[in-house]
Amino acid sequence: MKVCPKNPDHKQFITTAHEVHDWVVDGNGNFEEDLGCSETAHGPNSDNIWTCRKCGAEAVEDSEIEARKALERMDKVERMTVEDLPLTHFYK
Ligand SMILES: [Zn+2]
Repeated sequence: MKVCPKNPDHKQFITTAHEVHDWVVDGNGNFEEDLGCSETAHGPNSDNIWTCRKCGAEAVEDSEIEARKALERMDKVERMTVEDLPLTHFYK
């Protein structure tokens, strides 16, 4: 599922779909009139860019958000010093 990276309340996105239109043409195939969409050739593809309709941010997979949070947690652990560990305080 795609989500807005800036705000989880943003739930609408803009992306490309491919429609098939029936045209009215002259005998040489020149366009005269578009009769509108007659079928959808390809619906939205998750490999394409999806843009948040509200803020314009590029949508990401929700699994990616979880991965980012996990990386941030790991980064915090790496920056901990011995003083941050509860046991150190215990033995003081
Ligand atoms: Zn957004």
